[in-house]
Amino acid sequence: MSAAQPLPCHIESVPSFGPAPRRTTRQVHIGGVAVGGDAPVVVQSMTNTDTADVASTVKQVAELWRAGSELVRVTVNNPESAAAVPRIVEKLAMMGVEVPIIGDFHYNGHQLLAGEPACAQALAKYRINPGNVGFGKKRDTQFAQLIEFAIQYGKPVRIGANWGSLDQALATRLMDENHLRAEPWEAARVLREALIRSALDSAERAVELGLPAERIVLSCKVSGVQELIAVYRDLAQRSDFALHLGLTEAGIGSKGIVASSAALSVLLQEGIGDTIRISLTPEPGAPRTQEVVVAQELLQTMGLRAFTPMVTACPGCGRTTSEFFQELAKVVQEHVRAKMPEWKITHPGAENLTLAVMGCVVNGPGESRHADIGISLPGTGEAPAAPVFVDGEKSVTLRGENIAHEFVALIDGYVERRYGRAATAI
Ligand code: SF4
Repeated sequence: MSAAQPLPCHIESVPSFGPAPRRTTRQVHIGGVAVGGDAPVVVQSMTNTDTADVASTVKQVAELWRAGSELVRVTVNNPESAAAVPRIVEKLAMMGVEVPIIGDFHYNGHQLLAGEPACAQALAKYRINPGNVGFGKKRDTQFAQLIEFAIQYGKPVRIGANWGSLDQALATRLMDENHLRAEPWEAARVLREALIRSALDSAERAVELGLPAERIVLSCKVSGVQELIAVYRDLAQRSDFALHLGLTEAGIGSKGIVASSAALSVLLQEGIGDTIRISLTPEPGAPRTQEVVVAQELLQTMGLRAFTPMVTACPGCGRTTSEFFQELAKVVQEHVRAKMPEWKITHPGAENLTLAVMGCVVNGPGESRHADIGISLPGTGEAPAAPVFVDGEKSVTLRGENIAHEFVALIDGYVERRYGRAATAI
């Protein structure tokens, strides 16, 4: 867009600082979790275990929940996995893991829900892909059956269209209609329209069948950043259903994180999106929980929610000749992340704590003063002393071998004083 062109009308309301107010969408209750309306943006994740393997799935769901996932989706693709779902939900409840479990259905969902009523009952939400619900004449019948199960069991549904499994009949029809236009759209725009229409038309059909609009979440996932932004801006303008946001097939490692963050941050800044998932391909051996950590950090760094204290750390440069400050930054971030489940209960508000670990005197004291607690480590040639700043004032200077241990103890003491029961009782 050139500088002379006006902003698109849907982003006129973005303020010069901070995110735009959330788009008002209908609020959907998934288990005990509110999504949409004035609820905070919800973090969700998906397992990659064989759902029929109850022990592995329970273990991974519990890990995702402990990492902070507020909803967890599992694949339900065959009778074995459908039969496993109620056992998974029961075991999680026995472990005190209170996270709504969402069933992901493709092709045979209508049969699986019919064959396993306990699965239909145990799930907190059904995810249906309108492009994969069935083909030809069976498509509408099978979609209707899925919606009728949702009505019968009182469950919400996500109607999740996906670029990779677009309703081909709809896409072909829209392409044919496009040829009749005086000025045909480019093919990519027609396909985006097909994706949006697939979700919106399916939602409309679900409402006609009797599913309340307050039990519908929509998503239209694509794997390109600009395409996702365009699709969701359009979707948000054309409906008031709660929206699930995610870049599908985001990729592995930093590419997946950067692409997801780039796309989702633009939309979240415009107030679009009620629940997010970061669809990372895990690095071999990496924990599945990484997608939860990235989702939380995205929301927290944007100032939309707070989950765990954030550590500001400098990148290091030629003024730091040892890796000590990098190790300290890691130790501190891991310490507060590990403590947060406990602090959430015993020290509410600790998630808002800000910390700084800096590598030398250039920016160290200044950045440390901006944090609740910050430490400025000695750079090359500087005196071997690490001043600690608390609430903007220099507090103590740490020296010697135990700096990491002592700094962590200072953090724990600060959390106790500021967020402990004694502090909140005042
Ligand atoms: S604070 Fe010091 S060590 Fe860190 S990047 Fe800046 S100059 Fe380098």
